Parts: sequence; C-alpha cells; structure tokens
Amino acid sequence: MSGLANKSREYVDGTTISVAIIGRDARGEVVVSACNDQFLQMISGARSDLHTFPIPLDALLPDHPSSELRERLHGCFASGAALELEQAYEFIEGVHRWHLSLKPLRYANGATAQEILVTGFDNAPKMHLTRELEVSDSRFRAVVDSAYDAIVTIDEQHNITLFNRAAENLFGYKSSEVLGQRIEILLPERFRANHSRNVKQFADSVQMSLRSITPPRMDESNSVYGRHRDGTIIPVEIAISKIKVDGVIEFTAVIRDITERAQLMDLLKKQAATDALTGLPNRREFLDFVEKVLSTDEILSVFILDIDYFKKINDSYGHDIGDEVLRVLAKVVTSSPHGSMRFARWGGEEFVAALPGTDSRSAHAIADTLRQRFEQLDFDHAWRVKPIPFTVSIGVVTRDAGERDVDALMRRADRALYQAKESGRNRVEVGQP
Ligand code: GH3
Ligand code: MG
Ligand code: MG
Repeated sequence: MSGLANKSREYVDGTTISVAIIGRDARGEVVVSACNDQFLQMISGARSDLHTFPIPLDALLPDHPSSELRERLHGCFASGAALELEQAYEFIEGVHRWHLSLKPLRYANGATAQEILVTGFDNAPKMHLTRELEVSDSRFRAVVDSAYDAIVTIDEQHNITLFNRAAENLFGYKSSEVLGQRIEILLPERFRANHSRNVKQFADSVQMSLRSITPPRMDESNSVYGRHRDGTIIPVEIAISKIKVDGVIEFTAVIRDITERAQLMDLLKKQAATDALTGLPNRREFLDFVEKVLSTDEILSVFILDIDYFKKINDSYGHDIGDEVLRVLAKVVTSSPHGSMRFARWGGEEFVAALPGTDSRSAHAIADTLRQRFEQLDFDHAWRVKPIPFTVSIGVVTRDAGERDVDALMRRADRALYQAKESGRNRVEVGQP
C-alpha cells in the first residue's frame, strides 16, 4: 500500500465519534438525555460513570463560558433547523477541533425542536493529514523547481501536467501557458508528426525494461531536439520515466540543454577532420571521402601535388615563410573550386585532390591549370609577406573499373608524382593503370 493510502487508513481507524441526544426538561433547561463516553470526553473530559442521565448541559460545560455549542443548541431548539459547527476543546495533549452536527430528532409544536441528535468527530487527525500533504507537496514543488534540469510531465493524452522553473527557462514559456497544452509545442516541427508514435513505442519498451536500474533514455540516437518559444532549436539529452499516479499513467521527462556540449562535439569533430595549418580537410578525412566514392561505381580521378624544392624555401626564408607558402597554396585551390573537387593536405608539403566524375584527361587539365597558376604566381596575392615563387609537381591517376582499394590508388598517384619529379619537376604526370 502506498504511504498516502496508509495515512488514510490510519485516519479512519483513529477517528473518534461522539454522540449525544439532547433535550429540554420541564423547566426548559438543556439536558443530555443520553450520550456515549466520547461525547463526555469531548466536552468536559469527564467519565460517564460519574453521571446519571439526564445531565444538565451546564453541569458539563461549567468552564466553557464561550462554548459555541450551548448557543447553537439554543438556536437549533428555536429554529428546528439542522446545523454544523467547528468547536475547539482543550485537552491535556493540546487543542482538538471537533466537527459537530446538530440535527433535530423530535419536534415540539410548530417548528421548534424537542430533541436534538448531536454527533461530532475529532478533526485533528484530518488536519494533521492535510498538513502533512501540504508539507510534502511544497517539498515536492521546491525540489522540482530548484532542479537544474527541466522537468516536464505529460498525461496519457500527451498534455502537459507539470512544467518546472528550469523548463520555463529552457523553453521560454511560463508554466501557466503550457499546462494542459500538448507536448508537441515543445518540439521542432519536423519531429511533431512522429512524436506520439515514439512515445507509444517508448512506453511499450519501458514495460520490457522495468527491471533495469537506470530509467531508459529516449535519445539513444543522440539527436533529440527541443524547440524554444522563439523558434530556436535546442539540442537536449532526455530521460523519460513512465509513472502511475492514482492509477493514471504519466510520463516524466528530465531534459538537459546540451547546446554547449553539442557545439563542443561539433568543434572536436571538425578539428579531428581538419588540418590546423591550412584549414583543409586532413588525410583521414580525405581517405574517408575517397573510400566512399570507391564503394560506388562512379568514375574518380585523384592527384598528389608536391611543392618542388620546398626544403630550399624553408632554408632560404625560414620555416614561418614555408608555412605561409602552404597556406597560400591551400587558399588558391579552395578559392577557385573545380566542381566536386575535394582538396586536402596529405602531409608536409604534399596535397591531394579527389575529382569524382572526372576522367583522366579532364583531371590532367585541371592539375596542369593549377601548376601553371603557381608557376606564374597567377592568383590574388594573399601573402602576408612578399610573394615567394615556387612550382609544384603533380601525379594524376584515374580509378580502374571496379578498383576499390584506396591505398593502391594512392600508391599509383605517388608513383606518377615520382615520375613528374624524375622528369624535371614543375610537371603533371598521369599514372598508368
Ligand atoms: P622535392 O622537389 O623533391 O619535393 O624536394 P623537397 O625539398 O620539396 O622535398 P623534401 O621531402 O626533401 O622536403 C620537404 C620539406 O618540407 C622538409 C620539411 O622540413 C618541410 N616541411 C614539411 N612540413 C612542413 C610544414 O608544415 N611547414 C614547413 N615550413 N615546412 C615543412
Ligand atoms: Mg614531398
Ligand atoms: Mg617537395
């Protein structure tokens, strides 16, 4: 049984009911004709065996000059109308609040009552229970509202039933604006259509994983997004639990804004794929791309470009100027891209290009155009220093039909480059299959 059900049970078991029949004697005095011990306890703390019925009410209430009960009884006799009242009585252990009902049993002439049934029950346990509920409710609110994470609950119809302060900050809505609204307003448009189905699938899967310790997460795909009121899409991490409240199913989502983490991940991914000096894709990124193309049947040419006598540039001008030559070369190629060409830094003073959809002749033409531009310094001079003349040698190869091995392809390009160097440099050589 739940804690709340236990409390209700205790309350019922601990309830004290007092009963009395009150009438008036020949002199019109209010007398208790019959009552149980609880009634005597209630109004005077006296024990029943000390009295014989009928007992004058005043004998029981000597110390209660302000007793509302006395006045109300008089009123009830006079009007003949039933009424209820709350009355506090002091006991050794403290004040008890009794809820009393006065109900005329027999009527005299006209509307006046002759006998009144008084029943009362002690309200203290109930007050206690209410107070405990209030305390636990406000504790719950405080915990929920001070939570760092956004907490949103929805009912079975997917209407929002709870929206904490962090959720207000994350989504830009006041709780009062979204309570009762469908959860979809917190989702980017493109996720709205499938959301109900996802929640249902999730609910079914929770059934399967009830024995697992951690609540299941709905973001296994790592691509869950929320939508701020202003339309901003927010990457979030979300843990969802299915709970039953009073037999009604609810879902509680604990949502964390991972914008910063997502940005950092993007940055790290980018850094891992980028050459720091030139900003070009690096060797790994290039190989991934070529492998992808090789897994299709698309025609593909690649070339390796190597700066001639680069060592001399370093030796004559210094390593920093050597770096500048590498940066300028990268900038020249990327600022006039050839269709789908991917240009990357292979390492040192060597660069590579992948040209999907380009045959051997066209690849040679593109490579030779580049070679000439460098030879003639035929580009916008974006040097941070005075222009440094240099030439390049390039080895071009085209994939054979069905060729899938990226390493073999690059080895062939390297051999073509070697040929270009051997033949005097500042040349483009096309490798044979
Ligand atoms: P070749 O015409 O045969 O290619 O002659 P080379 O001097 O260009 O070739 P070699 O392989 O002998 O020398 C390449 C030089 O490139 C050696 C190395 O110090 C330099 N180098 C490699 N990476 C960098 C870099 O990032 N910055 C600078 N400034 N120099 C680099
Ligand atoms: Mg080299
Ligand atoms: Mg070189």
